[in-house]
Amino acid sequence: MQALVKYAALQRLSLFFSAGHSDKDPGAAANGFTEAQVVLDFRDRLADYLREKVYFTKDGERGQNLPLTVASNRAAEHDIAVEFHCNAFTNPTATGVETLSAAHHYPIGNALCVAISKTLGIANRGAKGETSGQHSRLAFISRGKGIIVELFFLTNQNDLKSYIENIDACVEAVGDVLIEAVCVGKAA
Ligand SMILES: [Zn+2]
Repeated sequence: MQALVKYAALQRLSLFFSAGHSDKDPGAAANGFTEAQVVLDFRDRLADYLREKVYFTKDGERGQNLPLTVASNRAAEHDIAVEFHCNAFTNPTATGVETLSAAHHYPIGNALCVAISKTLGIANRGAKGETSGQHSRLAFISRGKGIIVELFFLTNQNDLKSYIENIDACVEAVGDVLIEAVCVGKAA
């Protein structure tokens, strides 16, 4: 039975979100964590927060991270699609949150950056174009019409520590931006 969805009457846009990388592709590895491990946990916590608030789909069941091609194809079927990653850099002092997307998604990207940077107390690097990232993610942005969120730098010990200490607040902050985006639709 479908659970009662709190904002169902207000939801104007469909929502998809996914964990970057996959069960076979760990992404960056630093400070004892892999990117895939961090973002899969984040995606599942976000699903727990948003369930019973808005309708959404995601790239796999709890604990399952389907390949990027599957995520990109599903993303393209939704009005708003967001994929979570962690940033990584050779300089361990590189810090902050940023998003990568087409320009018409900068308002949502900037809202996500503000929410995450305030919650974690890390730099706001802002919403950027799709070629600004460290890996090739054109499929999710170009084909999937999605937004990549680089939550924080996995290679920065302070970023990681703050994330671990504030993970539930970060989930709620991101969830609230997405609820606003799909219920109002102004930023889409
Ligand atoms: Zn990544």
